[in-house]
Amino acid sequence: MQHTSKLPAVGTTIFTIMSTLAKRYNAINLSQGFPDFGSDQELTDLVCKAMNSGYNQYAPMYGNHELREAIANKMDLLYQVNYHPESEITITAGATQAIFTIINTFVKPGDEVIIFKPAYDSYEPAVTLNGGVPVSIQLEAVDYGVNWNEVKEKISSRTKMMIINTPHNPSGTVLSKSDMLQLQDLTKNTNIIVLSDEVYEHMIYDGEEHQSVCLYPELKSRSFVVFSFSKTFHNTGWRVGYCCAPKELMDLFMQVHQFNVFCVHHPTQKGIADFMQNPEHYLNLTAFYQRKRDLFLDLIKDSRFSFKRSRGTYFQVLDYSAITDEHDVDFARRLTRDFGIASIPLSVFNTDNLDHKVLRFCFAKKDDTLKRAAEIINSI
Ligand code: GLN
Repeated sequence: MQHTSKLPAVGTTIFTIMSTLAKRYNAINLSQGFPDFGSDQELTDLVCKAMNSGYNQYAPMYGNHELREAIANKMDLLYQVNYHPESEITITAGATQAIFTIINTFVKPGDEVIIFKPAYDSYEPAVTLNGGVPVSIQLEAVDYGVNWNEVKEKISSRTKMMIINTPHNPSGTVLSKSDMLQLQDLTKNTNIIVLSDEVYEHMIYDGEEHQSVCLYPELKSRSFVVFSFSKTFHNTGWRVGYCCAPKELMDLFMQVHQFNVFCVHHPTQKGIADFMQNPEHYLNLTAFYQRKRDLFLDLIKDSRFSFKRSRGTYFQVLDYSAITDEHDVDFARRLTRDFGIASIPLSVFNTDNLDHKVLRFCFAKKDDTLKRAAEIINSI
């Protein structure tokens, strides 16, 4: 038998590669983005309670009712927008499944999808698997800002979708109000769907405000907004996320979702719904992570790495061009093996693996881990 790959250009995701290397060399793992501390005990107790009180059969296809209500309330509280819990909010197996299913629902062979690079590594394969054509726009270090004139040039009659991500993984930049207004202008009177990955919505620093697509009525009407509980409640292994969209878009999404996962882990949904009754549980995240970012950056301020402070996400990009001109993938591997610290090289997310000589470090770690990591970084 002979089989050919549907994704011939794709190797193993960098997150698995670097976490595996970190384990092999017993390195401090600041590569793959996940916290090294647990969820709130109250949340874990609520999930156990849900399991013990019978939430063990299928949830409704859109997700547990109470959780959808809690999300609708959150969207109203944070963004003063209305998403109907019955038809405009769906719980997914992490944000990744939401993203995959959105692309699967709308992208047909030959359709173009605009993707900003560096891009989270699940976007492009999902487009390719559906016969779509990824159209890349490379953002440049160190600010990774969007040139909307370039976007305008890349929009064609075949553009079906545009994927944006703010706060941005891996660069830690954020889109401004002016960016969103330009996006709104460019997509007005088109059929373009905007897929807005906002999983780091609560991690935005120094008083900046998260510019969700849902704040812009014209954009909201053409957008899926994707969120994740993994990032917000520190449990990336639970795989629970959600997306919001106007009913006519969500109706189409559900045609695919029902045959993709049907629904996701029910007791976890119920536990999270109960936990969300107290908005403090997600509102205090900004201060929590800003303190971690500042601690980390203060500890490494005299190192040979240079940086601009991360404006959002729980990632910090560090420029190592003063240390070596090695390729970032080689350098990331060497740091893991010889220095005992793992990071993510950014070139794997760029067009033609463009190497800006920067590595991404995750600061969603205990203070003690950040201190140990900083000692190593300062010795490089
Ligand atoms: N979202 C996480 C990151 O960017 C990891 C995702 C994954 O491991 N697939 O690091």
